[in-house]
Amino acid sequence: MTSAERIRAELGDWVATYWDPGMALRDWRERLLTSGWAVPSWPARWHGRDLPAWADELVASELIRLGAVGPPVGSGTWLAAPTILAHGSDELRERLLGPILTGQQTWCQLFSEPGAGSDLAGLSTSAVLDGDSWVINGQKVWNTSAHHADMGMLLARTDPDVPKHNGITYFALPMHQPGVEVRQLRQMNFHASFNEVFLTDARVPADNVIGGVGHGWQAALTTLAYERRFSALRRPDYSTAPGRALAEARAEADDHFATYSWYPQRAGRPDLVIDHARAAGVSDDPVIRQAIAKLLTLQRVSSWTAERARVARALGARPGAEGAIGKLAASNIARESAKVHAMIGGAAGMLAGPDSPLRGVIAEVLLSVPAVSIAGGTDEIQKNILAEKILGLPAETRPDKGIPFRQIPHRG
Ligand SMILES: Cc1cc2nc3c(=O)[nH]c(=O)nc-3n(C[C@H](O)[C@H](O)[C@H](O)COP(=O)(O)OP(=O)(O)OC[C@H]3O[C@@H](n4cnc5c(N)ncnc54)[C@H](O)[C@@H]3O)c2cc1C
Repeated sequence: MTSAERIRAELGDWVATYWDPGMALRDWRERLLTSGWAVPSWPARWHGRDLPAWADELVASELIRLGAVGPPVGSGTWLAAPTILAHGSDELRERLLGPILTGQQTWCQLFSEPGAGSDLAGLSTSAVLDGDSWVINGQKVWNTSAHHADMGMLLARTDPDVPKHNGITYFALPMHQPGVEVRQLRQMNFHASFNEVFLTDARVPADNVIGGVGHGWQAALTTLAYERRFSALRRPDYSTAPGRALAEARAEADDHFATYSWYPQRAGRPDLVIDHARAAGVSDDPVIRQAIAKLLTLQRVSSWTAERARVARALGARPGAEGAIGKLAASNIARESAKVHAMIGGAAGMLAGPDSPLRGVIAEVLLSVPAVSIAGGTDEIQKNILAEKILGLPAETRPDKGIPFRQIPHRG
């Protein structure tokens, strides 16, 4: 038996004994957590089973195949939990990991600011210690799902008198408090996935520091590494069988993925170009056929790179150049696909509503594609990473390097 087969067999026995679709989802997730199957690659002491990294994906898909439910989807499970595991104190791990992995608490990422996106370390939201809590003042922006999050992964500046990367602290911010005001932003594609978050004398208990005061940058890098890894949002394909746990899991996924309903469109929908061309009666147009062939070739090549990266990750390798290459390729494919859809649809591609081309999907593609080149690090930043880290080209000039944050013009 290979190790994968052994894991499948052990999990199958466990599910046969403990899975009951009639139970409450929360109770099932508690069982999953106690058994170590929620996050099998984690240490046994922290809800895992000390299995290799590839076991997480295997177990998650096997749970679904067996008709059961895995840990919750979302940035709590994908970003906050591994960051807390890697950098949090034992007390924080004890207090925060369980509620994330059972779905009791949802999280959002409070990193970007109006003046700090690509230059994230230039952030200026401040945190000042007052007794046994930190007082937070500043503004965050672009914060996906902050309007229904219980906790925020917050980066704030605790020391403006040291170089910018050194004076940052990573906090677990309770979102439901008077000092936290979340305002939804309306996007040009009519969705409202992001928020501005205004922090006015918001409080964070001193114990909620992740990774130590002034050491937030290292913890932030962990979150960002996981963000690249999980940028492909996949909805779990839960069984449609009856049962309380399954119904609650489907409702949880509906709620979570409502925010991301336009994400397939922002990827350009290359999967729809052939149907679109046939529906528009232009599938024998040689220029359109060439454009489609070029797009699908790009997509196929990129999927092989992604597959190489996936296998490397499953074998426990640290993320390499594939992340930046994949991110850039996704932007190129999305833009190229939007162009092909526009060629096919012509002016009709701009129409929205049920009687428009592919029921408004094409219009949503055209309005959503620009997001891919920005989210999770812009195209230019990916090019900088490839130039410096992979090609070994000279580093970008960084005039604020080594200077105390307070002395950087327009910052401190
Ligand atoms: C769909 C989506 C979801 C997001 N979700 C979240 C979230 O949940 N939480 C969160 O905190 N943030 C989130 N963000 C924010 C995202 O991380 C930032 O938008 C991104 O890092 C870019 O920052 P910025 O918008 O401030 O642009 P800027 O950094 O101001 O960039 C403006 C332009 O200048 C270019 N540029 C900047 N620096 C350089 C350089 N050194 N070299 C060359 N060119 C450069 C950029 O490439 C870009 O074209 C999200 C963004 C999107 C689009």
